[in-house]
Amino acid sequence: MVTTFNPHPTTVREACRARLEGGVPYAGGTDFMVRHAKAVQTGQCPPLIFLEGVREFSGISVLESGLRIGALTTMAELSVDTAIPRLLATACNCVGSPALRNVATIGGNVCTASPAGDSLPALYVLGAKVEICSPEGSRTVPISEFVLGPGRTVLESDELVSAIILPDSGINMFYHRKVSPRVANAITKVSLAVGASVEDQKVEEIRIAYGSVGPTIIRCPEIEAACAGLLLSDLEAAVPALSSMVETAIAPIDDHRSSALYRRSIAANLLAECLETFASSYQRITHD
Ligand SMILES: Cc1cc2nc3c(=O)[nH]c(=O)nc-3n(C[C@H](O)[C@H](O)[C@H](O)COP(=O)(O)OP(=O)(O)OC[C@H]3O[C@@H](n4cnc5c(N)ncnc54)[C@H](O)[C@@H]3O)c2cc1C
Repeated sequence: MVTTFNPHPTTVREACRARLEGGVPYAGGTDFMVRHAKAVQTGQCPPLIFLEGVREFSGISVLESGLRIGALTTMAELSVDTAIPRLLATACNCVGSPALRNVATIGGNVCTASPAGDSLPALYVLGAKVEICSPEGSRTVPISEFVLGPGRTVLESDELVSAIILPDSGINMFYHRKVSPRVANAITKVSLAVGASVEDQKVEEIRIAYGSVGPTIIRCPEIEAACAGLLLSDLEAAVPALSSMVETAIAPIDDHRSSALYRRSIAANLLAECLETFASSYQRITHD
């Protein structure tokens, strides 16, 4: 049988065509190999499209107002590149282990669309957009619209993620914390990413995103609105009221990794820790 299927595309068009022909994209393979281990062992693996040869999917470039991060950029690269916002770098440095971070890509993390995906809360806070390519061209979709649910995205059958676009966010304070059973190679029980734009000691804007406490990443618009306009020095006093709002903002479940009760309690504690950290930075500035 003659087949035109090309598992090693070098152009976007070739990669999208292979996808349309039923190929499954393969980036770092760290998620794929776990999910399809049985199929690989029994020789029933679907045809793979190795994305590494497609130039447009690689590299970090500076745009007029932001950054373009190629989908194949690894977690290790993102952790150390000084152009990357520290919030995202910190989040990517929490993924798996050093060995895993050397191959796991941001495109793979985003396409897995797991509520425990560690780059995602930071990407929500930074207002990231997903660049999607197809044989017809490309389109960009806000990350919050790209992810539809666990393992589900808006990608069509001939589309691939080519890059993540980070607009300039104006964020000058951030907090990130991942809670998991151990430091390395452990899936997140709860995570929190927060970015704030603070001017003259006043919170102009704050963005709060939780991982692993709902079917997708959860933003907290009511808490964000309640924080906006507060002076850093007022934050500590507001902690009890603000952290009590977490209860209704999130929707955790009981599963084999954790209980909903534990997740609720930790989620509120993380927000309290974040706000106290922000407040203490005010004290440091004024007392120095
Ligand atoms: C031991 C271990 C520990 C882990 N720990 C963590 C952790 O702490 N935090 C975390 O978030 N994740 C963790 N993971 C999951 C995984 O490593 C990450 O999600 C990783 O970022 C996936 O990237 P990848 O390049 O390996 O994706 P792949 O496995 O290559 O692909 C993942 C999925 O996305 C699709 N895909 C990949 N790239 C594209 C693209 N450009 N366009 C369209 N579809 C695409 C693939 O077809 C596949 O369905 C862990 C996995 C293992 C095995």
